[in-house]
Amino acid sequence: MCNECGLLYSCTWSLAIRSWSCACGANLDRDHNAINIHKEGLKLLVIPSF
Ligand SMILES: [Zn+2]
Repeated sequence: MCNECGLLYSCTWSLAIRSWSCACGANLDRDHNAINIHKEGLKLLVIPSF
């Protein structure tokens, strides 16, 4: 997933592909783009309000 626009990409890419350019113009690095996981985690995080 692009961390700029949220566009999803195939998960079948080789691990040798380290970076790519998204259609939105963002240059994505595979490792840096793992910030997506952080963002998704925050979305799923539910803080109970009692
Ligand atoms: Zn994008």
